[in-house]
Amino acid sequence: MIIAIDGPAASGKSTVARAVARRIGYRYLDTGAMYRAVASEAVRLGMPLEDAQAMTELAGTTKVSFAYSPDDPIPSAVLVGQHDITSAIRTPAVDAAVSLVARIPGVRSALVPIQRQFAEDANTVVEGRDIGTVVFPDAAVKVYLTATPEERACRRLGDREAAGHEAEIAVVAADIAKRDLMDSTRTASPLATAADAHVIDTTGLTVDDVVDRIAALVMEVGF
Ligand code: C5P
Repeated sequence: MIIAIDGPAASGKSTVARAVARRIGYRYLDTGAMYRAVASEAVRLGMPLEDAQAMTELAGTTKVSFAYSPDDPIPSAVLVGQHDITSAIRTPAVDAAVSLVARIPGVRSALVPIQRQFAEDANTVVEGRDIGTVVFPDAAVKVYLTATPEERACRRLGDREAAGHEAEIAVVAADIAKRDLMDSTRTASPLATAADAHVIDTTGLTVDDVVDRIAALVMEVGF
């Protein structure tokens, strides 16, 4: 069974999707980490992000995988080959590059089959932008998480500061807005709310509140 969790940047998807997976004992797939891995390789190699053919080839040759600790369904690290890129994919440079790379149809065609394969035989919580609309249109439960731009900017600022990066709220808010605009207006699999998704505005809600709501939706369809 697939639980699809989509939503704009910093809407709380990762925190909530991980907590839901832990609560109900499902696997967890962060599809954004896969697009970030390709973007971070492109940045590291100094490749032109607008070059669709080069980015498509890079997506086809970048071997993204997840490392796990025993008894935990949530990956402890994101790898490219043997390299741990967990922190490298969360930098402002990758934030700025990833939507340019993710809008290229060939990049998506390289990554989507891997996402489908990951969840093929296992109950999985999958988070991203196009999970309920394109990657798993038959997902048993679809959730679209959102929050006000102010709340999302505050959350992302907190992430940045926790990671030891300095940031300004206005800059963070502008970066999020730019990424959301690119993600929702691209031609290939744009960020969109599936017609049958449950929309949850997480503004002012705790993580537990949101997880309770999603867990209840999962129970309704017969977890
Ligand atoms: O979820 P996260 O913010 O890590 O995603 C990073 C970027 O990856 C998004 O802004 C979007 O451009 C891209 N993405 C996507 N489709 C997905 C997941 C992420 O295009 N399913």
